[in-house]
Amino acid sequence: MRRSSRVTDHKMGSAGFLEQVEADSGEKVRICYQCGKCSAGCPVAYSMDLLPNQLMRLVQLGLKDEVLSCSTIWLCASCETCATRCPREIGIARVMDALRHMARREHYPVQVREVPLFVSTFISNLKRFGRLWEAGFVGVFNLRTGHLTKDMGKAPGMLRKGKLALLPPRIKGMDKIRKMIKRVEEVNRQ
Ligand code: SF4
Ligand code: SF4
Repeated sequence: MRRSSRVTDHKMGSAGFLEQVEADSGEKVRICYQCGKCSAGCPVAYSMDLLPNQLMRLVQLGLKDEVLSCSTIWLCASCETCATRCPREIGIARVMDALRHMARREHYPVQVREVPLFVSTFISNLKRFGRLWEAGFVGVFNLRTGHLTKDMGKAPGMLRKGKLALLPPRIKGMDKIRKMIKRVEEVNRQ
């Protein structure tokens, strides 16, 4: 459900929120003039509760709670389509990234149930095989989310074209990769 009614609410903004988002992302959110080109091109907009341009406006207004509790920041796929369309050259994906980090730091709940499952399944796969083994990843992720047959129809075509490996990859330097992941996990906990 989109929150268009809440976008037009005149609430008090959270002091310093806009400045913090700009500092974290390195992007000038304040120069967004609401042309809507980002939202028109976003491939995931149909599933977001706030369109990317609405999100930018809420950040400008300092409506921190609205922004950090929306599903949009978790659904953004960082594809950068919005950034390439933006006439003000704002890196919207970088803004989304900064907002996700802020939401994590400040313990706002993740609004999309599948996101933490996706991340933990992805990291376990990397820890085990050193790089992503897609077939194993999809199998475990579908099991954990309860969508057992999701995307299975695509597998035969991908296998035929050599885009999907039935067996996991074998790579050198697994100890270094595990060490690197451990370090990233430690930094994220700080
Ligand atoms: S980077 Fe995110 S917000 Fe921008 S177009 Fe892609 S999915 Fe949409
Ligand atoms: S495309 Fe750029 S200027 Fe237009 S609404 Fe989106 S962020 Fe704002």
